[in-house]
Order: sequence, then C-alpha cells, then structure tokens
Amino acid sequence: MKGKKTMTHASQADELREKYYHSMGAALTEEGNLEEAVVFFQKAIDIHDTPYAWHGLARALSDAGDAAGAVGAMTRAIKLAPGIPEYYHERGIFLKALGRPDLADDDTKKAICLDRNYERIDTIKWAARVVGQVFPGASTQADGEVRSRELRDILDRIKRGAQHMEDLFHKPSCPVAACPAYCCHFTGKLLLHGVTVGPWKLRNLREHLNEKGPSGEYPLEIFPLVQTEHSDSLFPPADIMMQQGAACVIFPRQKDSVLGGDLARDIPKGQDYRTLMWISENAKPCIFLADAKCSIYDVGGDPSLDSCASFLCMTGFVFVVLKYLGLLDEEAAAAKTMAELNAIAVDALIILARDVYGSEEAKACARAVAQELTCAIEEDRANNDASRDAAIENYSLLKSRHDSLIERLIATGGQKIINLFISRGE
Ligand code: SF4
Ligand code: SF4
Repeated sequence: MKGKKTMTHASQADELREKYYHSMGAALTEEGNLEEAVVFFQKAIDIHDTPYAWHGLARALSDAGDAAGAVGAMTRAIKLAPGIPEYYHERGIFLKALGRPDLADDDTKKAICLDRNYERIDTIKWAARVVGQVFPGASTQADGEVRSRELRDILDRIKRGAQHMEDLFHKPSCPVAACPAYCCHFTGKLLLHGVTVGPWKLRNLREHLNEKGPSGEYPLEIFPLVQTEHSDSLFPPADIMMQQGAACVIFPRQKDSVLGGDLARDIPKGQDYRTLMWISENAKPCIFLADAKCSIYDVGGDPSLDSCASFLCMTGFVFVVLKYLGLLDEEAAAAKTMAELNAIAVDALIILARDVYGSEEAKACARAVAQELTCAIEEDRANNDASRDAAIENYSLLKSRHDSLIERLIATGGQKIINLFISRGE
C-alpha cells in the first residue's frame, strides 16, 4: 500500500485501545455495570485525557449515585472542552442532585448562552424519541404464523410497509444539499471511527481505481491488526481481511485541508441532540468526499461503505423524514444556510412530535389499533374464529380512522413546517 503516513501505526494502535476502552465504558454504563464502566473509562483516560471519556465517566458515576464524583469528572470534561453546552447542562443536573441549585442555575445559564436550544432541551429530546419511534419504525407483531388469510394479508402489508421504511432510512441519501457533508469529516483517522472497507467494496473500488487510472495519492490505507487487541469488537468481522499474510483492516485516507472555524460553527447535532465529538474545526474530510458528496457511494453497484451508511445527524434525519412525508421544499432549503437548516430541523421535529405523532389523539388511536391487532392474532391462535373476525373488522375500521387522523394532523403540522422555510432566518 502506497502513501505517506501522517500518524504512526503504533500511535494508531494506542488510539484504538483508547477507543475500545471508552466504548466499553459506554456499553457497560448502558448495561448498568457501573463499577466496570468506571474502570474502563479510567483506562481510556490513562491513554488520552479526552473530554468525552471524562463525560462518560461522569455519567457512570452519576448513575452509580456518586454525584460529587460526577461533578468532578464533568468539570474536567468542561476544562478540556469549554464550548460544549451539554456538559454544563448535565453538570447542572448533577449539582441539583448534590443540593446546589445555585451552582446548577449558573450551569444551565451557561448551556443556554452557548446554545439557545438548551432552554427547551427536554422538549427536543422528547420529540427526538417520539419521531425516532415512528421512523424507521419497527413491527414485531407481523411475525409468526396465523390461520386466517385476511389476517395474514394484514400482517404482510405491515411487514412490507416496515421494510420499505427500513430501506428508506438505511443507507439514505441525505437531502441536505447545503451541508458540506460534515459527516465525512473526521478528527483523527477514519479507522478510529469504524469507517472500514469490506472485501466486496474493496474489490469494486480497486477495479474502479484501475479503470480510472492513478490520480493523486492512493486513497486507501491499511492497518495491521496485530498491533491492537480487541479488534473483533472494534471492527465488523467481515471487514477484517488477510493482506500479505496478516489480518488487517482497510480504510479511506483523509485529505489534508481542515474544516476550519467558520464552517465548524454550524456542525449539526446527533439525532439525540448530542455534540458530534468527532467533528471539530480540526476535522479533515475523507478523500472520497468530492463536492460535498461521496464519490464511492455507488461504486460497483455496492451502495456506500456499511460504516458510513447508517449515519444521519439530527438535521439529516429530520430532512429525510420531511422528504418521506412530502414536506420538503428542496428549493427553499437550498437557499438556506446550514445554521438556518439546523434550526428548522429542530423546530420541525418538535412540530412532528407535538402536533402529529406524540399528540394524545394520535397516541390513543395508535394504541387502539395495536390492541385490536394483538387481539385478532391471539383469537386466531386460540381457534376462536368468530372473535378473530370481529377483531379484524374492528382493526380495519380503527386503522383507517388512524390513517386519516395522521393525514389530517400532517396536513396541519405540515403547513407550520412549510412556513418555517419561509419565516426562519438567523
Ligand atoms: S447527515 Fe447531517 S452532516 Fe451528513 S450531509 Fe446530511 S446534514 Fe450534513
Ligand atoms: S467513504 Fe464516502 S460516505 Fe464514507 S466518509 Fe468517505 S466520503 Fe463520506
């Protein structure tokens, strides 16, 4: 593999070890294994004193009931990254738990000062959960055998609808044309973020590169896994390949230019409104990024790298949803700045949650539909054909009521969303 090295393999191995430790810390916190989580975060910090590892440690300590320890760890995170509003917001919560509402208020004010959306952060997170449950949506009821043909047709229809939505939200093409594709910019090597090339894509890429002829630096780098432990949990097993007799992963090179302060000001948030820690003003673009689009997305009919495919920031996610609902005015969106689009995305998300999917009327209606379907399945399995058929009839009635309600709510909420594109300015 050709090309100059900008970071030695030894230091990349250290970075990967750090990544493994802090990811394990986060996973263990999720599982509730807090004692172990604290140990892993500390191991990560021993390698690199990063704000996100301190942030993770603070969360683990807080979950373990150590509010004072959590405040201390978050204070260290803030010292390392003083511009992240969520750190102040979360330290404010820990300080309240410690019985210091005065200091907590100062932190809340600091978070709002950095980002006005912290005035309504709980609403934003609620809205993200509500809309996130609908898109891409999951249907567990559609599995399993039933005797009734009518019921089978209903379940198949639900399954097909879920699959269609799943396809739309998996490997989506982000419709935010004004974005310089922040998601393809990385602080640190791409392999540190799990962006690796699988064997099929590699074969197709090599053919493509051979056809195109050499232009500039060879775009791929190779990392031998003998230099790091835990590679199985850091990379998809299918992306680990043998090259020259050694197990390795292959990943895209980065360009040299950095994002810079001006662009970095408008980086969107994650779908849960968290700061995307891997994109900073020092982030460099992937070498395959050309004119804000991925130049290898479709190479060999193999859409995108798996590792890049599933990411959508909050702005990208909301815009995919709006496009799906027919509420995206692409022309109006193209005339907006990224800062305006980020703001529109948050407002649109709240409208979708408040006026449509999270409204009491819609929730009650969706519950009734789900209950009737469950009832039909249970009656079918219990061989109670008459009750099953009655439940199917009820289900069909409720479902069509539900669908027209959602259609009506989307029409009203949609008007508000369309107005955002007209009225929303900086
Ligand atoms: S997903 Fe987000 S960061 Fe990526 S291109 Fe779309 S708007 Fe930009
Ligand atoms: S491979 Fe394509 S999608 Fe992935 S980071 Fe590079 S340019 Fe972006």
